[in-house]
Amino acid sequence: MIHLFNNWNSIVSKINKAGLVFLFLDYDGTLTPIVSTPDKAVMNDDIRKLLVLLSHNKKFKIAVISGRSLEDVKSKVSIDGIFYAGNHGLEIQGGGLDYLHQGCKNVRSRLKAIEHKLKTKLAHIKGIIAEDKGFSLSLHYRMADEKYIFQIKQIVNEVCNPYIEKEQIKLTQGKKVFEVRPPVDWGKGQALSLLREFCEDDYDYEDNYYDGYDDDITDNFTIYIGDDRTDEDAFKVLTHTEDISVLVGHNKASYAKFFLNNVDEVREFLTKII
Ligand SMILES: [Mg+2]
Repeated sequence: MIHLFNNWNSIVSKINKAGLVFLFLDYDGTLTPIVSTPDKAVMNDDIRKLLVLLSHNKKFKIAVISGRSLEDVKSKVSIDGIFYAGNHGLEIQGGGLDYLHQGCKNVRSRLKAIEHKLKTKLAHIKGIIAEDKGFSLSLHYRMADEKYIFQIKQIVNEVCNPYIEKEQIKLTQGKKVFEVRPPVDWGKGQALSLLREFCEDDYDYEDNYYDGYDDDITDNFTIYIGDDRTDEDAFKVLTHTEDISVLVGHNKASYAKFFLNNVDEVREFLTKII
């Protein structure tokens, strides 16, 4: 993996040549540092100002793609004129787009039942937070004592396995969190593709940057920045050589081509592209 700033000149020339730059970002661990409980993840005002500035430039199509619920990520970021994807892309809004994956139908009551079972069986362990995200359920265990981790995993599997066997849910893992999700093959990668198609359909090449001489000027490309396992779904679909996949942190097994060390460097990146 290469540090994103090592290749800075080539990124600048790509941006200059592009018709549209898709700038897609994860929220937790990318725009905010990882904190002890999810409600404490507040976005720094500098980052908000930078994203607002970028959103005023028509070349940039900005989306925040999060595992949080759509309403939650919208209220936390709170910037007009950008796209938001919640529940890893199951729900997407912005720019006239209002999308809900059909796999979300009928999943609510099942998730409620699972939440109840988990809360009952985990009641004796302190520091576990069950977060109802509408179309998915997160079980955060960052605050739980290390000695319970194995037991927590056992209980989660015991509760979820009957549903997984009937293909009624799927279970994924993030940083100190289990996620119970609808059993559909739909994640941040598919959300990214849907958003790109939506924006490109909406984009009038003739009226915008095409000047009859330089065909390259409509070379759209994507920058995706994320820090967690679910972001790998997005990195995987960025197969075009022009696309820029960026992991916040270090992981040799990541599909990302580039890395940034931390949230401060994400802010520095936003400053540099402005
Ligand atoms: Mg994240």
